[in-house]
Amino acid sequence: ACKQFPTGPIETTECDFETIESVTETLYNELHSLVDTPFFKFFRVDLYRDCPFWPDNGLCMNRECGITTVDESEIPKRWRAAELSKVEMPEGDQRTALPGCYYRDSDYCFLDDLTEGDYIDLSLNPERFTGYAGPSAHRVWKAIYEENCFGMSELGLLSSSSPNPGLVSLPDSMTGALRADGTESSKECLERRVYYKVISGLHASISTHLCYEELNQTTGEWGPNLQCFISRVAAYPERLQYIYFDAVLVLRAVARLGPYLSAYDYCATGTHDDDSETHARLSKVIDLASRVGRFDETVLFRGENANVLKAEFKEHFRNVTRIMDCVGCDRCRLWGKVQTTGIATALKVLFELDTVALDPKSNANLLQRSEVVALINVLHRLVESLHMVQHFRRMWAETGVEE
Ligand code: FAD
Repeated sequence: ACKQFPTGPIETTECDFETIESVTETLYNELHSLVDTPFFKFFRVDLYRDCPFWPDNGLCMNRECGITTVDESEIPKRWRAAELSKVEMPEGDQRTALPGCYYRDSDYCFLDDLTEGDYIDLSLNPERFTGYAGPSAHRVWKAIYEENCFGMSELGLLSSSSPNPGLVSLPDSMTGALRADGTESSKECLERRVYYKVISGLHASISTHLCYEELNQTTGEWGPNLQCFISRVAAYPERLQYIYFDAVLVLRAVARLGPYLSAYDYCATGTHDDDSETHARLSKVIDLASRVGRFDETVLFRGENANVLKAEFKEHFRNVTRIMDCVGCDRCRLWGKVQTTGIATALKVLFELDTVALDPKSNANLLQRSEVVALINVLHRLVESLHMVQHFRRMWAETGVEE
């Protein structure tokens, strides 16, 4: 699995592995520069909300779990919370509010309401090995996979009956859930499969990052650990395939958002110099996304129970974004939030917004700044994982071991 490239169509998309491979390096270089620009590197997030699902989330005390925050004075004025809240809370906006966060009906995630939180420079806090592991990390992953249980509305477990408004409760045993190994315990539907792939691909991407930038505890040096990558990702070819799947899904969302992203104001200083550089890079990304992001969102949520299924899909993914508050390591939680918000934004773009809604003229405030930042950053993470996979393949080839 480490040596062989996956070939042929990427299941449930209209794209193949070779097509994505052919643009990975160009895409990676553009995205890598893009996420270093002022607009995309500052992310405002509330990392210290209580875990709504269980009381103790076992905080990781490793040095690598820590993050550094940025003082508000370093943030361009127009992106500070006070300024953003003026434009991002239009009158008549229908939202369900919880302490410190909210969601609108079309959202696949909970969004911070800008009253609390810190500014983080993502480029100074890379996603990498932190040492966060054991029961706390497993509990979070388990809860995320268990969200893949649809058909719950009939059991009365959806938010209307939940003690936490907007949250689906997490019972210990869930009948009909897709197990963490991807096998089915009951009838399968396409939407469930897609849900599982999204999560498993994200999980595999995180694993790839932490294996690529791993701290050797003996030598104190950082570097790629091939064995780590083999045992967590490459030994399960489908996990690797799901990273491609996620990349195609997010690329499709970026392609659909092309006109909106092109019209967006990324200006940090008022001189427009940084704005034009950001626009130039972004337009290359949008161009590539339009060529290769061939995910067909219209095949999902069709048929008799389409609306119920979609409501559940959305609600469950929203739960995943809340489960991030249970991650017991600040840096992992930060990247968990960035990436789940980014994927949630992609899902919203694919499944909730038609071309009229996506029109920047009629809907200039369609997305919040944090959604745009998260979307591009999650795409960068996924494409970076594919770039890292190439490196692991070369390392494997150098070992001279036959498959
Ligand atoms: P885990 O990765 O914890 O996996 C648990 C179980 O899930 C496995 O035993 C396996 O059965 C199954 N599984 C594993 N991968 C997949 C997959 N792709 N698809 C389907 N099933 C799978 N650690 C860091 O060092 N840096 C980080 O930035 C980081 N970020 C994290 C973010 C989140 C949201 C979470 C929950 C954890 C994060 N961690 C991070 C911890 C890391 O993901 C692992 O949990 C930890 O390294 C322990 O790994 P493990 O080998 O025990 O298995």
